[in-house]
Amino acid sequence: MLQIKNLKKSYKIGEHEIKALDDVTFELASGKLVAIVGPSGCGKTTLMNILGALDGDFEGDVIINGKSLKEAGTKDLDSYRKNTIGFIFQQFNLLNSQTSKQNVELALDLSGISKKDRSEKVKYLLERVGLLDQIKKRVNLLSGGQRQRVAIARALANDPDIILADEPTGALDAKTGEKVMDLLKEISKERLILMVTHSPEIAEAYADLIINMEDGKIISIDENLAKGREMEIIPIKKEETKSKMSVLTALKLSLRNAWIKKGRTLATAIGTSIGIAGIALAIAITSGTTNSVNTQVRGVFPTNSVMVGYKENIDKNPNDIKKLGYEDIEEINSLDNEFYAYQFPLKGEDIPMMSFYSLEEDLLKAEDFFNKLSEEDTIKRLIDMMSPGIIEDVKDDIQYGTVPNEGELNEFVISLSTAKNIIKDDEKLEDLIGKNIYVSFVKQTSHSDKMRGQGKPPEIIVKPLKISGIANTTTLMNTYYVSSDWNIKYYEKEFNLDKKKMEASSMIVYGKSAESIEASVERLDGNQDKYQFEMAGKTITKQIESTMKQVRMGLMGFAGVSIVVAVLMISIVIYISVLERTNEIGILRAIGARSKDIMNIFVAESFIIGILSAIIGIGISIGISNVINNLVYKFLGTFANNAPYMEVAKLPLKDAGLILLFCATLSIISGLYPSLKASKMDPIDALKRR
Ligand code: ADP
Ligand code: MG
Repeated sequence: MLQIKNLKKSYKIGEHEIKALDDVTFELASGKLVAIVGPSGCGKTTLMNILGALDGDFEGDVIINGKSLKEAGTKDLDSYRKNTIGFIFQQFNLLNSQTSKQNVELALDLSGISKKDRSEKVKYLLERVGLLDQIKKRVNLLSGGQRQRVAIARALANDPDIILADEPTGALDAKTGEKVMDLLKEISKERLILMVTHSPEIAEAYADLIINMEDGKIISIDENLAKGREMEIIPIKKEETKSKMSVLTALKLSLRNAWIKKGRTLATAIGTSIGIAGIALAIAITSGTTNSVNTQVRGVFPTNSVMVGYKENIDKNPNDIKKLGYEDIEEINSLDNEFYAYQFPLKGEDIPMMSFYSLEEDLLKAEDFFNKLSEEDTIKRLIDMMSPGIIEDVKDDIQYGTVPNEGELNEFVISLSTAKNIIKDDEKLEDLIGKNIYVSFVKQTSHSDKMRGQGKPPEIIVKPLKISGIANTTTLMNTYYVSSDWNIKYYEKEFNLDKKKMEASSMIVYGKSAESIEASVERLDGNQDKYQFEMAGKTITKQIESTMKQVRMGLMGFAGVSIVVAVLMISIVIYISVLERTNEIGILRAIGARSKDIMNIFVAESFIIGILSAIIGIGISIGISNVINNLVYKFLGTFANNAPYMEVAKLPLKDAGLILLFCATLSIISGLYPSLKASKMDPIDALKRR
């Protein structure tokens, strides 16, 4: 089953060439305990490493079960190490911080057998080597003999055909050594054990065959007839399993390691998390602010309005823009039948603005009107009124009274909120119908501000208007604008307004609802070359969004610097971990882990750090966000009375997910280089490192 043909191996050290193996040829059948005996440095370990496929750099060939090691590919060799060979070392090569169970399990993990089968097999194996009672003990608490027996159990885990034991008793005292040899002798009934020893006594006491070596050569092969052992060979049944460590196993191994080094893992994660927290906070603040300002804006601005101006004005200097005139009002109103009212700002010399209202005429006419204004709450500003022209479309909203008669300019409908403002405590809303309300028109001149500054009040004209109805509607038509035809007609009659002279840079058009006006705008926007439509709140919203985007980029830039530091930090920590776990890498390779599996272990470790730092970072940012939100609420309250509580810093779930993904990717990339180094490590060198 094992043929060794003309095996040669030499090491070059400078000019010198050391022949570690010099034309070694022999053949072995299964079910024997074969001892290779020779003085130190004669090439025994070199031979074992080649047989164990840890060293592929040799001349000649090794043929096992008809397969050549020389011709085998990487995959075959990984599978060979796991399924055909079991290694036992002089220095045990166990994972000392882990239990007996975990050490044996490790070999089984590589075969991907089920959890239940695995646990049973571990028990069986540890029972076989007489250590069932030590199953949960950490290996570094066991005696040397016990450790070697754990190593034997591990070597047996995947039912290998051949066990390679390099000085298995070398680190043990004579008595413990005997016990280990008894166990190996017992195992050799089922499978070939190739054991290296420098002790002829041990060889003679236990081996069926003794191969004597000297200076890389075999000098004699003796059948150890003295022992006169009757060979009773029990054939072993086994299934060949693919050499493959699941990603989950890699993660488990790394988690275990991260747990052992929890201080360092946590410190690295916290260090990395600061940058992540910065990013999370930048996103939280910018998106939270955008969102809460948007909701506040929506609470204040009627969403059923759209701003209209000339399309050609986009990107124009404010002084050069083309103004809308009366013809435009008519044209825009006819564009879509969803449009039912408009506000056209009145500007210019000698145009009186509808400004204040009161139920008492005297109040508005008072000499010291402007002084009274602030203290006198019977003088209200910004009347919400509706003219007959508008009412046509909102008849259903009338709660009290009626729509004014067509052509009647002295009657109008007020909004419910205005009605509630002027009503006296002992009055009912319906009592207002038919009452006169006095409205002040303040003459706007370009000097009005200056005049006020000189103590000369602007000219105030007071006119009575009759309340014909009260409507519950969201449409606000405040007094600084001419809203619809009623106003224009009224101004023409009362103030000689020349509507041909009306002009404004933009006007606001109302629709029935936010949805309907949005649909209208969408309908028109593509087909309109002349006018530009912009949802009223959207201008502000858009501005905030673009500002916040810039703020976000700025903040992210700062955080980006700390990310670079984080990458370096993870990289270094993984590199240190690789150095610390070099021996483990060797062990894993010897028991059949692929170099890819080694890579996975360290990538998994960086992944763990990445995820941990993401969680900590997001946690920190949520904590800070809460503080910010509470402070904002405490000092600013909400923007509008009916607007919801503002969460100016709020990380959207989607972005939290993205950060997690980002961290995972970032950490994996950071760990890639040291992981690659680990996977490329020479198993023999790695085993020597402790
Ligand atoms: P043994 O196990 O019988 O003591 P080894 O197989 O370890 O002997 O070594 C055989 C010879 O090869 C020795 O002379 C040793 O110094 C040399 N040797 C082993 N490994 C290396 C190596 N990596 N580089 C150079 N020389 C080596
Ligand atoms: Mg040796």
